[in-house]
Amino acid sequence: MSINYKELADKYQTPFYAYDFDHITQQYTELKEAFRARKSLLAYAVKANSNLSVVKHLAEQGAGADCVSIGEVKRALKVGIAPYKIIFSGVGKIDDEIRQALELDILMINVESEAELDRVEVIAKELGKEARISVRVNPNIDPKTHPYISTGLHENKFGVDIDTAKRMYIKCKNSENLDAIGIHCHIGSQLTELEPIKESINIVADLVRNLKAIKMEISFFDVGGGLGIVYDDETLIDTKEYGQVIMEALFGLDITVVCEPGRFLVGNSGTFITKVLYEKINGDKRFVIVDGAMNDLIRPSLYNAYHKIEVLEKSENASDCNLVGPVCESGDFFAKNIELPATEHNDLVAIYSAGAYCFTMASNYNTRGKVAEIAIENGKDRLIRKREIFEDLIALEEEYIK
Ligand SMILES: *Cc1c(COP(=O)(O)O)cnc(C)c1O
Repeated sequence: MSINYKELADKYQTPFYAYDFDHITQQYTELKEAFRARKSLLAYAVKANSNLSVVKHLAEQGAGADCVSIGEVKRALKVGIAPYKIIFSGVGKIDDEIRQALELDILMINVESEAELDRVEVIAKELGKEARISVRVNPNIDPKTHPYISTGLHENKFGVDIDTAKRMYIKCKNSENLDAIGIHCHIGSQLTELEPIKESINIVADLVRNLKAIKMEISFFDVGGGLGIVYDDETLIDTKEYGQVIMEALFGLDITVVCEPGRFLVGNSGTFITKVLYEKINGDKRFVIVDGAMNDLIRPSLYNAYHKIEVLEKSENASDCNLVGPVCESGDFFAKNIELPATEHNDLVAIYSAGAYCFTMASNYNTRGKVAEIAIENGKDRLIRKREIFEDLIALEEEYIK
């Protein structure tokens, strides 16, 4: 579907994010289909794009939620996701978050260390509850992705090794306040190779079989998220093959598959639209300066991530330049050394594949309000988050200067 960004820019001003909700539906349906041989739960990783309308849209398709803070859990509940479809992950849950998660009766807390398991037990005991948990296993597999988004190696902070996991399950077996219902691994993000996923899932499935042998039945096998999307010219993992690999690994086990996609569901749905302010030449270096900046979309600055970029309705006189924003940092760029056509004031620039880990990483640095977010569904656009204004930015400080 082609979206008329010019019209949207006239209506909502720039910069903004536009998300194609029909694309999100397609992605959800495709992945759900890959698991159809089994009972499955697609728990959307809310951190990828936590706009309430986005989460609600996925909830309407049947998605659950994978959350990494109690705030995300509340977002999921707010849009009608049932507690029994919500998982709470993360290496550093604070006591109060654990308490609230137990009180809200979500499906399970995904525990990432022995120390955390102890805390969960203590808090569950105080509440007179039995905490449903899963253990996040770190299979020590190189996911072959960017080091900042690799999570499945022992050098990464996530999860526990197999031996520790075993001890944790045995602890649960002997505890009145812990009920181990799940097992989990998530080796990284933007994965484009199936082999590391296969290896790690097989390692974890072996552990499930070992636990079964000592009469511990695990009901939920959480394969994590991580499926990659197209930023440039990546060859993606085939979702059918992905499903098959998982089904094969779980052969003979009576277990529900949980998958926690974030980027895959929303990443390619989003486009960031920003407007050209000026061009300038420093020495012989050309800069195109736009009204969007690193505080709106930080992936290029943070990970050196590539996003495809186009100046809309222009193609003449392309030459090398850096595309930069107004923020006072040399790290404020969307691309370095790219070919862009000659631009004029008010030309629109589209930055693609901006549906995941873009708005959610935005900040108010330089007292810049967060930009507007727009949904496109069935050919119609609607605002799903207002552009922040100055008053929003100072609201929590104002009373202290009076
Ligand atoms: C971030 C995260 C995900 C989602 O990762 P994607 O690459 O966006 O699919 C899934 N599970 C956990 C535990 C995560 O931290």
